[in-house]
Parts: sequence; structure tokens; C-alpha cells
Amino acid sequence: MSRLVIVSNRVPVPEKGGIVPAGGLAVALKAALEERGGIWMGWSGKSSGESEPEPLTVTQQGKIGYALTDLTDTDVEEYYHGFANRVLWPICHYRLDLAEYGRKEMAGYFRVNRFFAHRLAPLIQPDDVIWVHDYHMIPLAAELRQMGFKNKIGFFLHIPWPPADVLFTMPVHEEIMRGLSHYDLVGFQTDHDLENFAGCLRREGIGDEVGDGKFSSHGRTFGGGAYSIGIETAAFAEFAKRASSNIMVRKARQSVEGRDLIIGVDRLDYSKGLTQRIDAFERFILANPGQQGRVTYLQITPKSRSEVPEYESMQRMVAEQAGRVNGAIGTVDWVPIRYINRSIGRNVLAGLYRLGKVGLVTPLRDGMNLVAKEYVAAQDSEDPGVLVLSRFAGAARKLDGALLVNPYDVDATANAIARALSMPAEERRQRWQGMMTHLLEHDVSRWCDDFLADLAA
Ligand code: UDP
Repeated sequence: MSRLVIVSNRVPVPEKGGIVPAGGLAVALKAALEERGGIWMGWSGKSSGESEPEPLTVTQQGKIGYALTDLTDTDVEEYYHGFANRVLWPICHYRLDLAEYGRKEMAGYFRVNRFFAHRLAPLIQPDDVIWVHDYHMIPLAAELRQMGFKNKIGFFLHIPWPPADVLFTMPVHEEIMRGLSHYDLVGFQTDHDLENFAGCLRREGIGDEVGDGKFSSHGRTFGGGAYSIGIETAAFAEFAKRASSNIMVRKARQSVEGRDLIIGVDRLDYSKGLTQRIDAFERFILANPGQQGRVTYLQITPKSRSEVPEYESMQRMVAEQAGRVNGAIGTVDWVPIRYINRSIGRNVLAGLYRLGKVGLVTPLRDGMNLVAKEYVAAQDSEDPGVLVLSRFAGAARKLDGALLVNPYDVDATANAIARALSMPAEERRQRWQGMMTHLLEHDVSRWCDDFLADLAA
């Protein structure tokens, strides 16, 4: 079996006392690397100021070599905060109103990808299979090809791919599309994203599907497919069972005693639909006065990307809104919304999901949404909670036992909360069973195996 080289912006190096980043990518790939042996390369998360970064540091842990490089302040500003998070992220989440284009940032993005390619090059062996992850790294294959590398190179996009009319507002869309053509396999989360990608090729007249899961553009033929990322379902379910005895989970259980718990877990991001969700919860209470004092809505929302202005204002907005709703509908002995602005470890999270009668996952747009899958996996098979899920999350394409909502329709979400809370046990079990069966069959190792098998083919 070929060695695997994974490249992603951040690398989850296991270190003592290290904080596990709140993101889905980390958990997914370690198992594949442990099995095949190889390298995981990316940014250290540190800056070298304005001086040239020190040489790459490689830390070997078992069969995995973690290769990290610093970036300069300018690199971080232009490549990461600038282009990746202020252009590609909003564009891919259909928020062209939030995209901030700048020539400097766009150039910085391509420059840093060239830098990554040059630092990675000496580590690559001829048989290595290279797997590049996510929107930070789209031009990497083109850079490696230019240096003469003929290895199999795959790319997986963890976030959505937008329709042509949205993508084409981005000045460098042509270069981004060309960048993708240098991979041997380009993977998207859903068939919907794949269709959007094909539509983008066709609209510009730069390429098309040529059958058999292949695309042709920019003089190259390459594979394209939908590979919905999963979670470690069985392990997570086990984890959730055991988490019930965790001290924090026990405290949480005691504190909601006698009330139904609604749970939401999202990074603080405008794509997650937090303000619409809080509105929906308020509307649910106003429309169902009998529920006053009988439910607690726990929203766990770690801060993220605070350096980006849109996130900073979002942080203020959500906090104010949670406070306002608590002020408006709370009573002397009932705080309706518990809003936590910190990251919670997954061991505790698993137990909290299991306590939740309702899992409220209502992003306006999301590549997949692993929280939705974790919530389902964490449920007690005898008395499972109900997932209320945005139809605009990739997860909605397969989790048909959820109550699907349009998160822009606040009344519909409020109604779904009411329906979820009053759903008979039999219906809950039936809906949960279907979803759980799917998640067990399509877990993260299968996702990984499927992608790598197609890349090797
Ligand atoms: N997560 C966590 N602690 C938190 C909040 C979230 O560990 O306080 C994890 C969560 O369990 C999930 C991931 O972060 O695995 C979020 O992935 P998702 O696909 O839902 O959203 P993303 O943050 O990648 O947009």
C-alpha cells in the first residue's frame, strides 16, 4: 500500500496539553495515516514575524510524520485571514455579500501555496499518494505539477461548492477552476456540490463531464465525485454512553432536571444560522406558552476566526440576541437560553448531545455538518432525541429521519421544535434507527477508504 501524504492548512499534532481544534477535519484522517504510514503537512499556526520561516520541522509519532511550517505575518494576513477566510469561505457558503476581494490577498494565497509546495517537495517519494484538503490549498497540485511531480494527487473540499453565478463574482475564479483540474480526483461533500462544479465548468465553456465520473478541462482529464464525510459512529456512540457519568455531564443533567433540553453546537460562524435559530426558539416559546419554564436551550458556540471583522461583529450580535431573548421571555426561576462561548471537549459534548431531547442544527449553508451526525450517534436507542436539521446542510441529503427545515423560515423552525418535543417515542425510534443505520454504514473510515480507492483507481 502506498504511503499517504496529507496536506491541510492546520495539522492536529497530538501534543500534551494541546487544545483539540473545533473542526471536523482533525478526527477524520489520523486513522488512514496510522494504517498506511506517511506525512501530514501544513501550517504550524505560528508566525515568523516578517523574517523567512525556519526550515520545516518534522515530528515522527509512530508511522506518522507531522511536518509543520511557520508563515510570515504577511502570509497569514493575506493567505489565511485575507483570501481563504474572507473570500473563499463566504463565496463557497453563498455569501457573496461578505466577500472582500483584494489583489494583495489573492496574490498572497497563490504565493503561500507555492511556498507549501516547495517545502513539501523534498518529502515526497515517487509512490506517495498525496491527498490535499480544503479550500486553503486549491492551487497546491498545480504547483507540484509544475515542479514535475507525477504522483496521484487528490483533493477533498470540506465546504460547499457554489453555483456558477456565485463563484463567478470572484475575480480569480478561472485560476481556482484551473487549479482543481491538476488533481487526479476532486471530491465534494454532496452530489449537489458536484453538480454545481460541473455547472461552473460548462458555463465558462472551459470543460465538461466526459462520462464515468470524469471531467475534462484545461487540457486535463480528472475524476470528480461526491464523498459525504462521516464520523467514527460506533466509537462515538460508545463514547456518549460512557459520557453520562462524566462530572460535567452529570452537573448539566441535574441542572436541567424536569426540563427538556434543546441543544445546539456550532463554531461561531455566520454560516451556522445562529441568529435565525435563536429567533426560532423565541417564537416557539411565544407560540407555545405552556412550554415556558419547561425547556432549556443550551447553545455551545466556541469563538472562531475573531481576527476577521465579520466574525467579531457576529460574536457581539449573537451574545446580545441571546441576552435580549432571555430578558424578554425568561422568568425569575427560568433562564431559557444558556449560551456558552467556549469550546467543550468532545467527551463532554457526547454526553450533552445524549441529554438533548432535540438537536438543533440549522446552518444557512454547510458542507456536511458533523454535529448533526454526532448528535444522532450519541442518542439512547430506547429513548432517542429528535434532530431538527437545515435542508441546506450537506448532512440533510442522507439523514432523512431528521425534521428538515428551511432555516430562513423562522416560523417553520419554531414549529419543528414543537413537533420534535412532542413526538411519540415510537416515531422517534423509527426515525433514529434509519439514520443510525446509515451512519454506521457510512462512517469516516468508509469515506476515507472510498476516496483513496477511487484515487488509486
Ligand atoms: N466541537 C468540539 N467542541 C465544541 C464545538 C464543536 O469539539 O465546543 C466539534 C464537534 O464535535 C464537531 C466539530 O467540532 O466534530 C464541528 O464540525 P462541523 O462539521 O459540525 O462544523 P465546522 O466547525 O467544521 O464548520
